[in-house]
Amino acid sequence: MKLELTRVVQGGYRLGVLKEIGRATHLSLEVPGCLLYTRCGTVPHLTHDTLHTLSNLPSITQLTLSTVVEHQEVLEEYKDGFKKFAGLHDTALYCSLHDPVTQSPAGYVTNKTVSVWGSGGRIELTVGRFMALQKALRPDLYQSMADGETWQGDASSRKRIRKSVDRTLAHLDECLLIHQQTAELQGAEVLGVVEGGDSLEERVRSAKETAKRPVGGFCLDGFQTGSMEGSLRTQLIGAVAGELPEDKPRLLQGVGRPDEVVACVEAGVDLFESFFPFQVTERGCALTFDLDLSPDPERAVLELGEEKDEAWESEQSGDVQLEDQAETITPFEMDLKDTKYRDDFTPLVEGCGCYCCTNHQRAYLHHLLVTNELLAGVLLMLHNMAQYNAFFRALRGALAGDQLEPFKKRVLRSKRVA
Ligand SMILES: [Zn+2]
Repeated sequence: MKLELTRVVQGGYRLGVLKEIGRATHLSLEVPGCLLYTRCGTVPHLTHDTLHTLSNLPSITQLTLSTVVEHQEVLEEYKDGFKKFAGLHDTALYCSLHDPVTQSPAGYVTNKTVSVWGSGGRIELTVGRFMALQKALRPDLYQSMADGETWQGDASSRKRIRKSVDRTLAHLDECLLIHQQTAELQGAEVLGVVEGGDSLEERVRSAKETAKRPVGGFCLDGFQTGSMEGSLRTQLIGAVAGELPEDKPRLLQGVGRPDEVVACVEAGVDLFESFFPFQVTERGCALTFDLDLSPDPERAVLELGEEKDEAWESEQSGDVQLEDQAETITPFEMDLKDTKYRDDFTPLVEGCGCYCCTNHQRAYLHHLLVTNELLAGVLLMLHNMAQYNAFFRALRGALAGDQLEPFKKRVLRSKRVA
């Protein structure tokens, strides 16, 4: 795996292309960028055909162990890996431990095991079982097993944080040893997981130690939305990034809100999970970024919109509410269940080229949502994924053109479209 950076701001953002991803040597992914979120290899709400009405899909598909752990025997018998099993073509496969949307209960980690929750309940994984799963799945890259509980509940004492860093390093060493001895995993990359909760000292220690190991990149865990204030998160990520080698990618887990994404990119993050469009879809909303959706990324941010919302900025300078934010409608979306859309015969977003916007209007989506039609999820998911990808594309255009500040003013301040 090669990370070719075209632009690096000292102590700040990085712009470039990730190439030769694991064994998928013909694939590349522009950074900052996001992965394709799936459950058991399928994007929620979408079939293979509807998914592929979208262009420029991320070239790395994320698979979560908790969604496949119960199929271990079948996959082991199949022998050809998950990509072939699930009919995933022309994509790299990244395997993570937990689903970013579903919070796992705390208190089930021991020195030798972590737990994941399948549909039938809790499943305890040792490094041996974790690696047997990787061997059966044959991903192109995967995170090493990690104790990432420090951001949950009462598990955040200094002592507990230190233990999580120690355990995660021990798991990584064990994973790497088995990785090197497993023929099925040759050519795949291991991402070392950086833990350390909200402790600067432990974050730096975890990053330094992980960077000493032969990993292909880094997974920054424990920074999930709701786990800490945004300013503390970016400060810690900045410190961690300072300890990591420049030529390896950094994937941030559990952060998807556009304003948080931009702040973390500025702190040195390259890759994000893309569960956010799914969360927006689940609450019956549509993403409405104030992007110039022209296909030419260079032009993406040159036309500045009017500065229109002072209130949003002051909201943002306040503290992040440390609560479950999954249900909270962010300023980047419109709530289509609102009766004001009942007779609105305009597309969700003017100029968005997705299937939903080219064929349907807000009023139809409103009708589908209030009558609980399954089609609402399909259409919204298509639109929200298209918008989220366009957001990342515009962000890269802004970084390339030295237009980050205007981009932030315009896109992050955009309130819901009336
Ligand atoms: Zn659309």
